[in-house]
Amino acid sequence: MSTTKYIFVTGGVTSSLGKGIISASLAKLLQARGYSVTIQKLDPYINIDPGTLNPYEHGECYVTEDGAETDLDLGHYERFINLPTTQANNVTTGRIYQTVINKERRGDYLGKTVQVIPHITDEIKRNIKLLGKKFNYDVVITEIGGTVGDIESLPYIEAVRQLKWELGPQNSLFVHLTLVPYLSASGELKTKPTQHSVKVMLENGIQPDVLVLRTEHPLNTEIRKKVALFCNVNMESVIQSIDVSTIYEVPLLMKEEKLDITVLQKLNLPVNEEPKLDKWKQFISRLKNPKKEITIGLVGKYVELQDSYKSIMESLIHAGSVNQCKVNIKSIHSEKINEDNIAETLKGIQGIIVAPGFGQRGVEGKIAAVKYVRENNIPFLGICLGMQCAVIEFARNVLGLKDADSSEMSRTTTNPVIDLMEEQKGVTEKGGTMRLGAYPCDIKKGSKVFEVYNQEHIQERHRHRYEFNNDYLDRFEKAGMKPVGHNPDTGLVEIMEIPEHRWFIGVQFHPEYKSTVVNPHPLFVNFVKEISKD
Ligand code: GLN
Repeated sequence: MSTTKYIFVTGGVTSSLGKGIISASLAKLLQARGYSVTIQKLDPYINIDPGTLNPYEHGECYVTEDGAETDLDLGHYERFINLPTTQANNVTTGRIYQTVINKERRGDYLGKTVQVIPHITDEIKRNIKLLGKKFNYDVVITEIGGTVGDIESLPYIEAVRQLKWELGPQNSLFVHLTLVPYLSASGELKTKPTQHSVKVMLENGIQPDVLVLRTEHPLNTEIRKKVALFCNVNMESVIQSIDVSTIYEVPLLMKEEKLDITVLQKLNLPVNEEPKLDKWKQFISRLKNPKKEITIGLVGKYVELQDSYKSIMESLIHAGSVNQCKVNIKSIHSEKINEDNIAETLKGIQGIIVAPGFGQRGVEGKIAAVKYVRENNIPFLGICLGMQCAVIEFARNVLGLKDADSSEMSRTTTNPVIDLMEEQKGVTEKGGTMRLGAYPCDIKKGSKVFEVYNQEHIQERHRHRYEFNNDYLDRFEKAGMKPVGHNPDTGLVEIMEIPEHRWFIGVQFHPEYKSTVVNPHPLFVNFVKEISKD
């Protein structure tokens, strides 16, 4: 029998309570106590993965080493526990149904009627257990997306209810996250929504073992007692999760509340030495005590929703802490800028990042921003489409190829300096068909980017269909924009830089997916360091 213990995290009352952060914080604490742990997200929507979703729907699409397009919570998991996740760490209803339907078509069900119970719930259970079995983790934390009571969450709730009994006592545990609202008119914290939410869990046959209460004000003993009494848990199992200025403080708050100890005791696991959190604490102390302050512009077309560029924002926080520098991020909508207003828009901004993206909308604004920072020696980091815009701008304004473009934006350009990758030419389906996941890249010694990484061979994650067109390589090199990173197998250009410029680097990959608290990404760290010299 497997010795892996399972923790199921559910949410009630409302969405956006921070289940992902609580799951990641608990994982961090268990890991800091020496346990091997991973976190999985079950998403109740029908898309096979979020790769086809507009960022306005669910925020950024995160990409794992093995090339899975996943929910952005997996980014939090990696940033907190500093371990790569995989395709198995994110499962959607769409994927569950797809597997079951494929099995039905193969005839695997031997003439049986295929139903939500047991076939869908069995497939959910199989996916949960898969992680523990495959990698032999001590603890698997499974976060169930959505809010209890939602129709679409029901099969998941039923599956974990069954799992609890199959796994036997002390092998699994339910953590339920709710909200304790504060009514300012009466100056009171209200527990009723929590009671109702636990009632919904009970109707589904689940008694939560631990309640994490999100609140804007501290919970006094009376409130904790009340929740314990009405929700059938002991006082130690009522955990306060108060609003904090940075998500990275949550593990320390959860430690104060002894969430890790309560969980370990309930799972009958030894509560050994104090968690090792020195690096984490140092990170927070540097973050909260900055000696400098800078402002970076983030140019993108989804800037209204902060979650669209989550990993970039978090990478800048990591880099800020390393440099003990407060990084203000000014979002700049790429559709609202042009050559006429760019100088005004970038006033007070010391460096820009041009964000990844797809399609024509907003591209000309991004190109105008690149032109301005290139000509004015302002630090620039271009990510994926951001790098492609830098290439197009250089071709148009330095090489004099006036109609230069990406063939993604213009099919008729006579100068497709960014072109569809060879392997993409026959691809018609949209889902999961980009160049995805980690690929190696060789860095040219003596380049700026070599100085940044201090490494010749790197691995970075990708998510794109278009690439630099190598027919133009010589012209770019001669004019001063240098390809300084290549895929060793295919020769694809992965990094471009302008050595004459103060700091001008474009990368075809996404460095933001690999920046973590204990391992901040060198590109962001160096970018912030350069700007903080101002
Ligand atoms: N649309 C571009 C491509 O597919 C860039 C993608 C991105 O920025 N992630 O190549």
